[in-house]
Amino acid sequence: MSFDTLALHPALLSAVNKAGFTEPTPVQLQAIPAALEGSDLMVSAQTGSGKTAAFMLPSLHRLLENPPAKNSGVSILVLTPTRELALQVAQNVKLLGTGMRDLRVAVVVGGMPYGAQIKSLSRRVDVLVATPGRLIDHLQSGRVKLNTVQTLVLDEADRMLDMGFIDDIHAIVAKTPRTRQTLLFSATLEDTVSRLAKDMLNEPKRIEVSGHKSRHENITQTLLYADDDSHKRRLLDHLLRDADMNQAIVFTATKRGAELLADDLRDEGFAARSLHGDMNQRQRNHTLGLLQRGGIRVLVATDVAARGIDVKGISHAINYDLPMQAEDYTHRIGRTGRAGQQGAAFTLATHSEHHKVRRIERFTEQTIDVAEIPGLEPVKKLSPKKKRPGSSSRRPGGFSGKPRRSNAAAGASAGRGDTRPSRGGDRPARGDRSDRGDRHAPAGANGRPARPNSRGDRKPRPANHAGAGMR
Ligand code: AMP
Repeated sequence: MSFDTLALHPALLSAVNKAGFTEPTPVQLQAIPAALEGSDLMVSAQTGSGKTAAFMLPSLHRLLENPPAKNSGVSILVLTPTRELALQVAQNVKLLGTGMRDLRVAVVVGGMPYGAQIKSLSRRVDVLVATPGRLIDHLQSGRVKLNTVQTLVLDEADRMLDMGFIDDIHAIVAKTPRTRQTLLFSATLEDTVSRLAKDMLNEPKRIEVSGHKSRHENITQTLLYADDDSHKRRLLDHLLRDADMNQAIVFTATKRGAELLADDLRDEGFAARSLHGDMNQRQRNHTLGLLQRGGIRVLVATDVAARGIDVKGISHAINYDLPMQAEDYTHRIGRTGRAGQQGAAFTLATHSEHHKVRRIERFTEQTIDVAEIPGLEPVKKLSPKKKRPGSSSRRPGGFSGKPRRSNAAAGASAGRGDTRPSRGGDRPARGDRSDRGDRHAPAGANGRPARPNSRGDRKPRPANHAGAGMR
């Protein structure tokens, strides 16, 4: 089915065409007509499903049909949990609004200077994309009015609630007109999210296209058991040297862990950087820009920092540390396989973490295939009673399914320095609210990634060198 059947404004159809979207994704197919009818929506859609266009296209259509008065305030308000997601959404708005004359988009997020935000809020704002904490600051100082909002979007509502934004969301929504249309998007629609929807939505239509239970058909999911940290490190090395690897995002549990691992990988010649919540916005933007342009091959990131990253070149998502919450698994692996491309997700775990893997599997209602890399098999084996029905050991095939040779196997016993992360996650108590200082030491010399050598970004290393260069 083509976009033409969705009765969208011609300016939007031409933008969709220009963006190269040939047909609507399943969530767009369901959500766009329902939103065009004027209903409030609560939609569960997986990350990477095209959910941004699913809420932006009908919102922009409504704006085109009801142009705002000349000096009026905000028409469309999108609340997102993180800065990265807000910037991503704003980018999408610009893409989808290319056919609209003088579309004004403002972004209001924590960790960025106030000056530019105050300036952008002093004029008409068609679309305001904001994180709740900073928007509250602007509301309290009277710099923004929300009484002209036609459409309110709560993007990744579950995450906003997780991050403790409930009171801020209530305070913000109270400033918007009751006549608004509200579109709530979330990975899950259970419990707290459905309570929020009850408070804020008016007889919403519930659309469940593919929540956390979706199979991520275009992403191969593989579980690799490791004996210990040093074994995990060698498995990672192997995965990153795979010929199918274009760009990888590697997840650690903590900010410190992300920095240490990125340092290690850089020492080994990978164009690696870290991304986490202690970096200021300028540093984060710089890193994301490099990633977009292909200047980074391996991004080592924490959960909060990585949410919303949408880079088509990411072929591999690797859980170096298991996620703290099962739902984060879905978000993490959704960083690869963007826009219908193929992706590979690998999860590294020790046998003692088996129960955490089971928790993820219960949440996603899927079994992650266990695999072993020849030469890097774990010495310890899972006790038979812990084995899952139907789980079979196989070789990880990436996209091609071909068995791989381990180039790190010969050095399997090389000692690995401790990249074990310190305690404490990356989730800020108040999300984006505080403008964090610049505590992050820039990655390579002059803040640049390791200079590529003749093979791109990798130093050729002898096969028995797997543990060298580690601290
Ligand atoms: P999202 O789930 O909104 O983060 O979107 C994931 C990616 O899919 C983004 O790169 C979008 O530009 C892209 N996308 C959205 N809708 C479509 C579509 N109908 N066809 C192809 N790509 C799309």
